[in-house]
Amino acid sequence: MMGFDTLSETEYPRGTFKRCIGLDRIYLTRTRKLIDVPVGLRTIFIQANHPAEQLVELVRKAAIRREDIRPFSRCILCNEPIVAIARHAVRESIPDFVWNTQANFSSCPKCGRVYWRGSHTERAWKQLMGLFNEI
Ligand SMILES: [Zn+2]
Repeated sequence: MMGFDTLSETEYPRGTFKRCIGLDRIYLTRTRKLIDVPVGLRTIFIQANHPAEQLVELVRKAAIRREDIRPFSRCILCNEPIVAIARHAVRESIPDFVWNTQANFSSCPKCGRVYWRGSHTERAWKQLMGLFNEI
């Protein structure tokens, strides 16, 4: 949601993830039983249990600033940067209510998922911005 290029270990064959990621990434984990973590890979232990608390913990530990984030700029399914798309191009793939209330759309070039700034997006945006007010 914050727009960072993110990979998930669950999407890699067991035992291969840490060998595949570059040292320019930050490895987030909830376990202290680190096995096969490459030397030089920055690792952050997340201790909080609740997702909202985990996000606060990550922002603090990684020293993420408000200006570092680009909310809703990547596909939540496949991590690709989303791109603006012409309104007429999405007519067949969105509900009538959305067509009647939204003017701007983006889509994922990889999976085709269509995005717009609905009320859910606005709430999530406010929550993200609120994070930086708390910290
Ligand atoms: Zn996608």
